[in-house]
Amino acid sequence: MNIYLASANVNKAEEINRLIVENDIKVVLQSAASVGGMPFVDEDKDTFVGNAKKKAEALLKILPEGSWVLADDSGVCVECLKGAPGVRSARFAGENSTDEANNKKLLATLADEPVKNRKAAFQCALVLLGPRQQEYIFEGECQGSIAFEMRGDFGFGYDSLFQPEGYWQTFAELGSEIKDKISHRSEALAKLLYWLKNNFRKMEGKSQTTF
Ligand code: IMP
Repeated sequence: MNIYLASANVNKAEEINRLIVENDIKVVLQSAASVGGMPFVDEDKDTFVGNAKKKAEALLKILPEGSWVLADDSGVCVECLKGAPGVRSARFAGENSTDEANNKKLLATLADEPVKNRKAAFQCALVLLGPRQQEYIFEGECQGSIAFEMRGDFGFGYDSLFQPEGYWQTFAELGSEIKDKISHRSEALAKLLYWLKNNFRKMEGKSQTTF
């Protein structure tokens, strides 16, 4: 069964693919690049679900008839910043900003905040859309805190600043083996994979194309 991933983010695609393979799910994730690339989407909604839905709808429009599409929208929400950067995580330091610039801005913003004010959570919304207006939403969250400096070489985005609850290391130090067990994305994906396992036959019966 093929599902197209509405993302140009290779790191996310790698993580999602890895989790699908590890769980032995018979799904092949097709990239947006395989159909000419991810169309531009103005991520102007104030929820992860809203933005994920926009991305999924944008790609669905250019897919072959009968296709299914999956989109991920995610980010880090810092408690003392009232949930910021949140849906603006990718653009926290400005449009087209790099991970490093975003991390530096977050460190500077929290410069005077002690440990007790650095609580944060990664959040992830996955939206799966089908060819007959089917819409399924799967959400995940990972609690933790923002470190005082960037540490570690693995991962992407804010991984070098995020210390998941119960660990003194950042995700970038812990690496994919631990991140895949406890991350916001793995929680959302576990829900999606459970749903797929239980609904695969139904989808197979209804679909007209690759299932
Ligand atoms: P999106 O691609 O519009 O959903 O932007 C998500 C942004 O949130 C990314 O650019 C990252 O900065 C951040 N982000 C989301 N998930 C993760 C993660 O698992 N690790 C680190 N940063 C993440």
